[in-house]
Parts: sequence; structure tokens; C-alpha cells
Amino acid sequence: MSDYIIHTETDRLKATIVSTRVRLRYPSYLSLMVTEKGSKLKLIGSSTKFEMKIAGLKSTVAGLYLAPHTLAGMGINMCPMAGACVKSCLTYSGRLPLQHKYQVLKTRAFIAYPVEFLEQLIMEIKLKAFEAHLEGYTLFVRLDGTSDNRWERYLDFDKMTEEIQGLGGFYDYTKFPLSARRPSDSYHLTYSVDEQRGSELRAREYDEAGYPFAVVATKEDYKMLIKQEGITDGDESDFRWRDTGLVVLKAKNLFKSKEHKGKGKYKRDGKGLVRTAKQILKMLRVQA
Ligand code: SF4
Repeated sequence: MSDYIIHTETDRLKATIVSTRVRLRYPSYLSLMVTEKGSKLKLIGSSTKFEMKIAGLKSTVAGLYLAPHTLAGMGINMCPMAGACVKSCLTYSGRLPLQHKYQVLKTRAFIAYPVEFLEQLIMEIKLKAFEAHLEGYTLFVRLDGTSDNRWERYLDFDKMTEEIQGLGGFYDYTKFPLSARRPSDSYHLTYSVDEQRGSELRAREYDEAGYPFAVVATKEDYKMLIKQEGITDGDESDFRWRDTGLVVLKAKNLFKSKEHKGKGKYKRDGKGLVRTAKQILKMLRVQA
């Protein structure tokens, strides 16, 4: 058994009603982790989109995409802090909807059989990191591609990053307050500002701790804002590893979800997830 896994937490997860419910329906880890054609499901994939050079270091990113919020059913909620974003989640864009059935299976596998899931995840990370190392790259892993799970409770990221050759670390976006998370030198977090009460205060806490916070702007405001000093263009890449301060994201692919039949559309900026340029610039001043 891998000593990267924090077993007190996997035991705690297995003891929950939701985990037991999933195990009753699926009698083994393997019964969840197979495709229709009978091949074993992989947990992480890599994307050329993320491949880039940062400060001379060639970096590549692999991501895990679970079923967000309550999409996995059976009482599972992978995004307990989510608000309006459930209707504009990345999981409804691009080709990701084609993966929903597998996202659901992987999520149920994590909830019901966390140790087996994490063992497979560690093995896949080791392989990807080794491949990256052979090609002169450093691998970074994003586990919450489409979820908001507190992975640091289950995995010793510092030990993994120190011991696995070719692995540079982990990074994610989150909506949890900083007090509920444990970012570190090997786990970088970006706070996602949203429409919920207290969100700006939470952003400030992340900022003061040296971690970035991301805000969504309209397409027009985004173009203007990324020219401002002290603002990072969050759409240039989603690799936040070295970022601090204010990150602006464009609302371009958001709110197109067919599943929500347009209900995710925002009426106007400043009401909901999308902030006005004025609100965003005010956050920049708070930061300064
Ligand atoms: S918290 Fe993130 S992953 Fe979860 S529903 Fe919202 S946007 Fe999607």
C-alpha cells in the first residue's frame, strides 16, 4: 500500500453513508472502472493545451476530471461550496459532456473505494512524471479539473513531489476558504471569486497568503483588464503554478450549457458570477 495515502481520511470517507451506498450498488472497484468495451478506465490524461515553458522550465500538465457538484448522483457532492457556477461549469463545454458517464463512474469509484482509486492515481502520476522526465519536461497535476475536492486530506503532496522523479507539483482552483484548505510549496491553489456572500473577503485571505484569486469578466471588460498592470490573463493558459494576485477570466465559454437550457445565462455583469470592470479594478486596489 502506498505511503502517500493518508489512511485516516480514506477510512473516514469509507465510513460515510454515501460511500456505503455506492459500495452496495457496485461490489468492487473494478465493477466501476471499466468502459463499455471492457477496458480499464484511466484516471488522468494529459493535454497539449497546458504544455508550455515557464521560466525556462518545460512544463506539462495532466488533469483528473471527476463529475462536478451532484452530477455523480447517489448523494455525492464534489463541489460543496459551489454557487451559480454549477450552471456554467467547465464540464459542460467542449468535448467534456461526452465524458460524463466516465466522470460519474470515476467519482463513484473514489467515494466507494478511495484507497484503490488513490493507488491507481499515484501509479498513473508516477508513469506520466517519468515519461515527462525522459522528454525533458516537468509534470504538474491538476486533480480538480471539474471538481472541488480537498485532495490534500488524502494525499501527501509534499512527499510525492519530493520523491517522484519528473513531478513538479499539484495545482487547483477552489471555492473553499483558505482556513479549510492546506496549500503548500507542492500544492498551489487559486481562489475562484463568485457571487456568494463573503467571496471577496476570502479572495483577500488567499491574496495575503501569496495565492492568486480569479474573477470572471465579460469579453469586453476582459480585453481592457488584461492590459492593466498587476492583472494576470487567466485565459492565456490555465497553468496558475507561479501566479499571485488578481487573475481575470473571460466569460466566453461559460453559460452555454445545453443541459441547463440557457438558464445559466447571466442577465448582466455585476449580478452573479460575472463582475463589472469597476468591481474588478476595486479588488485590484484592495490587493495593492
Ligand atoms: S466549483 Fe468548479 S467544478 Fe464545481 S461546479 Fe463550480 S465551476 Fe464546476
